[in-house]
Amino acid sequence: MRFMKLSLVAGLLACGFGPVNAGYTPDFNGGVDVKAAVQAAIEAAASAGGLLPEPGRPESAGRVWISMERGDVSALDGALFKRAPVAQNKRLAVYEFETDELDQLSDGMYRTFARAPGFFAHDTLEGALEDLQAAPQPPARAYTLDQAARVKELAALPREEGISAAIRALAAFKNRGYRYATGVDASKWLQKEWVRLAENRPYVSVAPFKHAAFPQESVILTVLGSAEPEKVVVLGGHLDSVAGYGDNPAPGADDNASGAAVTQEIARALLEGGYRPAKTIKFIAFAAEEAGLRGSGEIAAAFKKAGVRVEGMLNLDMTNYKGSERDIYFVSDNSSPEQNAFLGRLIDAYLPYTWGTLKCGYGCSDHASWTKNGYPASYSFESTFEQHNPFIHKATDTLDKCGGNAAHALKFARLGVAYAVELAK
Ligand SMILES: [Zn+2]
Repeated sequence: MRFMKLSLVAGLLACGFGPVNAGYTPDFNGGVDVKAAVQAAIEAAASAGGLLPEPGRPESAGRVWISMERGDVSALDGALFKRAPVAQNKRLAVYEFETDELDQLSDGMYRTFARAPGFFAHDTLEGALEDLQAAPQPPARAYTLDQAARVKELAALPREEGISAAIRALAAFKNRGYRYATGVDASKWLQKEWVRLAENRPYVSVAPFKHAAFPQESVILTVLGSAEPEKVVVLGGHLDSVAGYGDNPAPGADDNASGAAVTQEIARALLEGGYRPAKTIKFIAFAAEEAGLRGSGEIAAAFKKAGVRVEGMLNLDMTNYKGSERDIYFVSDNSSPEQNAFLGRLIDAYLPYTWGTLKCGYGCSDHASWTKNGYPASYSFESTFEQHNPFIHKATDTLDKCGGNAAHALKFARLGVAYAVELAK
């Protein structure tokens, strides 16, 4: 029933029904106000006998609205796109999909462009239409390096064994897909592990972030700041995995047990070192990244709506395959150039590693959700784009493809510690 209601609204937008704008598809380059266009369609639906949707609630678990680059649409297998976009601008288009089709889209994107997912998926049409607007710019801020002694002490604490053990445990779940029971179990397992980190530390708490449209929960460990707790630094990576589409074996050891494990190890090392930040740090394992950045998209939007002051976000997605000459690569598109430069300086000053840059395109991982909501975000990656782990999104993404250890991922854990200490001071 809920699906029928919004479907009607979407149909009105797509087909140009209603008294407001006959034959009209919104073009946001033309200065059309998105909210007004949506509201007009909703009112037209109501006056045509439809019901007003309740704001803030997904209309159906069965439908999603995606935004993606128009150039990608034309390069993909046409079968999925025998439908008109609901709305578009020069660069992006919004489509209505069945949830069941999302897996196919993810798979098509990966096989065609080696990118994952490369689109945003939303529970509501309104959420997707916001993607067509320019992202707000984060306010300018200064990045300083003046915690050398503390960084050197704490950056020595992450352990390869801690990361590889967590990778093995996560990769043992058959498939960590966001809609599968084993994907829910993996999230619950991580919550238990993180609750153990919080024990006997009253300033540390762990809570799931529940998503209305799917059962897998994101996991958030919060270290409350001692001086400016209202300012927040976020480090995280996605916990879900995928292999083709369907409930296939999807160990996702590199993509992205490695990033979730590094996130956990950064938290563990900082807490073991007795570190209490001045600002709040949130460590997040995101649900449903492979299905259109849905976990991080919801969380970043909720933070923005609540007025949370996110000082910076570091995304950890694929950290354990040393495919290129340098150690750590920073994604230069849909990220903060200033914060990327800060991360490079952290390596130069404190760590014996080399770094480079790469581009990964529209909606390629969870940092993009934070950038889109006006927060400075960065994405540290294991290799150049061309030389990334060739086994991901298959049953063969296992730890042995990364040498059977977490030596490469450990570099990202050390960088994460330095980032946290210099940003949350
Ligand atoms: Zn990933």
